[in-house]
Order: sequence, then C-alpha cells, then structure tokens
Amino acid sequence: MSVPISDKYKVLKHTFGFSNFREMQEEAVDAILSRRDLAMLLPTGGGKSLCYQLPTLLMEGITIVVSPLIALMHDQVIALKELGIEAEMISSSQSSQEQQEAFTKAKNGILKLLYIAPERLANGSFLSWLTTLDINFFVIDEAHCISEWGHEFRDDYRRLGELRSAFPHTPIAAFTATATPKVREDILSQLGLHEPLILRAPVLRKNITITVRERDNGWHNDLMNILKEHEGESGIIYAFSRKETEELAAFLSKKGIKCLAYHAGMSGSLRHDTHQSFLNDETQIIVATVAFGMGIDKGDIRFVIHTSLPKTIENYYQEIGRAGRDGIDSEAVLFYSGSDFHNKKRLIDEGSDPQYREMILAKLRSAMDYATAEECRHRLIASYFSDSVEVCGDRCDNCKDSDRPKTDITVPSQKFLSCLYKTGERFGATYISEVLCGEEKEKILSNAHDKLSVFGIGKELSKSTWSTISKRLIELGAIEPDEYKALKLTASGAEILKGKQSVHIRQERLTPKKASVKTKEHDHHAPKYYENFKALRARIAKEHRIPAYIVFGDKTLYSLAEQLPTSKEEMLNISGIGEVKFERYGELFLELTRELSAKES
Ligand code: ADP
Repeated sequence: MSVPISDKYKVLKHTFGFSNFREMQEEAVDAILSRRDLAMLLPTGGGKSLCYQLPTLLMEGITIVVSPLIALMHDQVIALKELGIEAEMISSSQSSQEQQEAFTKAKNGILKLLYIAPERLANGSFLSWLTTLDINFFVIDEAHCISEWGHEFRDDYRRLGELRSAFPHTPIAAFTATATPKVREDILSQLGLHEPLILRAPVLRKNITITVRERDNGWHNDLMNILKEHEGESGIIYAFSRKETEELAAFLSKKGIKCLAYHAGMSGSLRHDTHQSFLNDETQIIVATVAFGMGIDKGDIRFVIHTSLPKTIENYYQEIGRAGRDGIDSEAVLFYSGSDFHNKKRLIDEGSDPQYREMILAKLRSAMDYATAEECRHRLIASYFSDSVEVCGDRCDNCKDSDRPKTDITVPSQKFLSCLYKTGERFGATYISEVLCGEEKEKILSNAHDKLSVFGIGKELSKSTWSTISKRLIELGAIEPDEYKALKLTASGAEILKGKQSVHIRQERLTPKKASVKTKEHDHHAPKYYENFKALRARIAKEHRIPAYIVFGDKTLYSLAEQLPTSKEEMLNISGIGEVKFERYGELFLELTRELSAKES
C-alpha cells in the first residue's frame, strides 16, 4: 500500500497536533505502511506510540497491541479517545459487558486499535476469534519482556512466538526502550520477525541531567534541597523496601510535601487511587518501590530520585527515563552507599540457579561500577547498551565537575588492606581504623593487635578518613564484607596490596562539607501565566475524569502560556493541539488566553 506523503503529515498535524516527526518516527511509520516487520528501540519518551498509532489510521483494518500492563493500556486508550481515535482494551479488570462491547466494536470494524494483555493469547478461542478480524498489523509493546536476559522477563510473553505461525502474513512491529544486544537478538528470533527494519535510536536522553551522590549522614538535607528546587513539580522517589517508602513518605509529609507511598503490599484500590492522584497532580511525589513501574507514562515528571543502588542498569535507565518524557529538562539523582551492593547481593545469594545468580550478580556489579565511576554517566549507560555517545559536557555530575581534583590514596589503601590481612580478615572498618590509629582499646589489646607492625601506622589520618577509604575500597571491589560485616580481601584488593593497581578518590570526599537545607527558593523558569493554565487544565481533567497530562502535556501548556494565542489558527500552530483536542478544549483555553492578553496590553 502506498500512502501519499501529504497524508502522513496531515494526520500528524490534524490528529496528533504535531508539525514534524521526531527522530526515526517517520521511518517506522513508513515500514508499517509498507507492511514490513519492524523492531524499534527508542528511549522512553522518544515517541514510540505514534509510530503505530498513526499508520493504522491510514490503513484498512484493526491493529492489535499486546501490552504488559493494564494501567498502561488504560492510559493509552483514554489518550487515543481524547484524540478522537477509536480504541479499546480487553482486560480482566473490565466487566463482562465492557469486554463484550469491545469485542463487538472490533468485530464490526469500528476500532482502529485494540489493546490486549499477552495472557489472552494462551486462550485458543481468543486466538481463533482474532483470525476473524481484519488485522493490519500486530504491535508488541515493551518487547524486552520476551527475553530471559532482560530485566522484566514475563512468562506470558513467550507465547508471542505463536503469533507468527497463527498469522504468517500479518506484519509485526516490536517496540522497546531498553535492550542489551542479547535481548535484541531474543526479540528478533522469538517473535520470528521476517527481514525486519531495525531502528535503533541513540540511548542518550539529552534532557535528563544525572547526578550520583554518596548516601552519607547528611543525605536527607541533600534530598530536601533537591525537592525545594522542584517545588510544585511531579517526581518519583524510588526506595529500597516497602518499609522505607512509608518511612520516607511520612518524613516528607511532615515537612509539608504532598507525597504518598506506593508499593506492592498495598491493596489494589489504594495503589490505584495513589496512582490517580499523582496523575491528577493532587500528589506531587510518589515514594515507591520498583513496583511503581511500567504503567507510568505521565509526561511531566521532572525528577526521579533513587535512594539506593538499583539492581541493574536496565532498571535504572528505565526508571530515570520516566522523567522528562515531554522533552523538558529533568533530573535524575541517585544516592548510593557501598553497603547497597552487599545488601542486594545477599538477597541474590538466596536464589537457586547458579547461572542465573551469576548473571544477576554481574548486573549488580555493573550498577555499582556505574555509581562509583568518574566518567560521563550518559556515556557509561550508552556503552552498557553497546551504544556510543560523545561525552555529554554538562548533563551529568562527572562532566560538569570533570576538573574536580582527585587524590591518589594508593599508600593509605595499602596500609588499610595490610592491616585487614594481618588482623585475620575478621573485623569491620571501625576496628581496622582503630588499629591503624594506634588506639589502645581493650579489644585490640586482648587480641594482641597492638603488637602488629601495622598498629598505629595510620595516625596521620582521622578515623573518619579511614572510614571513607574503606568505603572507596568496597566500591572498587577491593574488599567485601561477609554476612557478619567482617571485611575480606578480594583478588583486586591483593593487586592493590602488591602495588599493581593504584587507587584514586575525589578530593572532596576526603573533606566533605555537610549539606544544610537551603532556605532560598528556586527560581522557576516557567512562563508568567503558567500556573493559570495549569489550574485550568486541572479543572478540565477533574471534570472529564482523565489525567491532566492527557488534556495537554506540559510542553503544550508552556507554549500556550508563552504565546497566549487568541485565535483558533494561532492555537492550532502550537505543538500538541490537533483538531479534536481543539474542538474539546480550545474555547476554554482561548477564553483564558484572551483574558490574559487583554491584561498584558
Ligand atoms: P514512549 O512510548 O516512547 O515512551 P510516548 O509515545 O509516550 O513515548 O511519547 C512521549 C511524548 O512525546 C508524548 O507526550 C507524545 O505526545 C510526544 N510526541 C510523540 N511524537 C511527537 C512528535 N512528533 N512531536 C512532538 N511530540 C511528540
């Protein structure tokens, strides 16, 4: 089928309200229109949905979208209906009447898109029902779930391989944001894609500024300062455990921050309400475990904070990717500690399959290496996914402070390791520091460690400096605590001891400044009348019972507040406003823009 170019652009502008395709979108649309299989790897926020939602409007038949999460499908269907596109989902969360209605609409050729969960395909009668429809192509969303090598493997996704044999002539388009080369191979082979067009956008998320900090005693103050800078904006804080999400949410609430906890231990309805109040901007921050996952496609999340080391870089990349999906500058901050690695490793050790354990452990080690690295963060992430990018310049802490002085601590490290070795690898960092500082404590004397050659050889440094050095050695994998917190020397530690490897640390870590909570408020860059538009959007969202960002994204709202369009034509020139959206909300916003422009003149 050949579609005139003008039609693609017409639909892009008229229905979606955009003047241009983003990087790779047009190639994806063209591949689908020419009925070719497609595998697309685009970072979160890159605009995957449009790549299949647009071509189906120019084709005969219905598109079946396989999606792993009900919340995700639900939001997509609402957003499509808001654009005037006929779409439905079939899920176990619906009443049988709702399901029946969706079936009937699909059967009668009314629908352009039908969203289904992968487990549906296990049902033989459902599959044979599908064969009665005029399907133009299949979409597999979050396609990385098909691979055991991925971080979100889903058993149900395995069945997707059967689609190709049941529908040998129907094209398949697979989409994902995170896939290592191994996962990419799995997607192609397990779905049985036939000479697919493979589109892979750069991993780099330019609009996210990344910072990684050590979680020291003052980290709550650091956190408060970050939140102050984002006052009134949406954000997610990922915490390690359910308990921690609740404690942190309580702590922040006490400080007057509108936030809620979210974790898998909460009832389904409470989780749903929490999610909704976040989408509707009633709750500013969600403090969550990773259970607050794939279904989050709120476009205006301005910051994502991790309070401990993520399990894998795949997880981390996907989680920070939830910030700034609308393309506006956003922030990702990770607080880590050397102990995170060992705490998480201990949980892995309880698993059974050794090969699996090894893989998970290697991923965790990569996450730790990332946290403690001193090179460009964006580049490190890109290279993890076998992509390459130039150093970001000023989009991560390491590049911004590339001239931060470093100190060679090889000699003190050797003293520490030697002391550790000579005391029999039976003690923690505090004891080793005390021996190094020559403290005549009872325990040291009774162990006769005051007789060792290492006793008192580290008096030139304070105990807190020795503690920092021990943390650096843990980060580098030179020493490892066992389950009793006794430090053990590793092979890489032995290399340092033999002088075959040097150790460096950023100078400021040896003389840390304590963070105090800033009192000055952040100067927001939002246009003058932005809040008026936000309030109108919130009112509309409430009335229509849809998430605020589905009415208009932040970028659209910014443009409205900046340009104050006073006619339909001017308004349609704003990115994100198509004909249907204008029909629905245009007049309400025009009223506001006219009122504000009158005030200005
Ligand atoms: P993904 O699924 O890749 O994470 P989405 O499909 O949710 O990304 O799109 C992210 C955001 O980008 C949405 O707000 C969407 O409206 C916007 N977007 C998509 N395509 C374009 C485009 N061509 N021009 C401007 N904005 C776009």
